[in-house]
Amino acid sequence: MAQDVLPELVGGVLCLDVANSVDGRVLDDPLDYLHTYADLVDWVRRAGGLSAAQAVELHALAEADPEAADGELVRTRALRESVFGLFYGRATQGVAAAGLLAAVQESYVDALAHGRLVADGPDLRWTWEPDLRLARWLLARSAVDLATTGPSGRVKACASQDGCQYLFLDTSKNGSRRWCSMTDCGNQAKSQRLTARRRASRAAD
Ligand SMILES: [Zn+2]
Repeated sequence: MAQDVLPELVGGVLCLDVANSVDGRVLDDPLDYLHTYADLVDWVRRAGGLSAAQAVELHALAEADPEAADGELVRTRALRESVFGLFYGRATQGVAAAGLLAAVQESYVDALAHGRLVADGPDLRWTWEPDLRLARWLLARSAVDLATTGPSGRVKACASQDGCQYLFLDTSKNGSRRWCSMTDCGNQAKSQRLTARRRASRAAD
């Protein structure tokens, strides 16, 4: 979306970077950066989940069938909320609701059912044909990989008191990272922005 200044990607893993495409989840009116299917493709591309060529293919598929792309955007946003809930719950309470696991599992099973194992030089690679569901499949796979092979104990939620809730993989040596970003929540810049947004939406009511 042209008018949004996209935030820095701080998750360190595809699934967390996609979960962080909503900012200010505690607000009445959270800021969701994925307005269109094209936004989703660009976000996943920026997070390293898609090659430039794959992104071009997905944009073309979406232009050819906007209705299907809209439906897939809705499903991917729903999965994103399950992925967020799963890792946020585990990071902050040590648990996640069974329904969240089931939702991630459902898209993961779908992803596996549509992928193929192919030779790529000396290696093998799991791959998919261009498909509008690809972003959702990649999100599901990334979430299951992180949850099952970790280091999921290093997944943390931003310590901001004011509702950032961004998730990130703490790769610091002693596991001491507290903020999504030192230049943002680390110096309260984002918290001030979210507070201003909360006031503005209250004033608009
Ligand atoms: Zn933060």
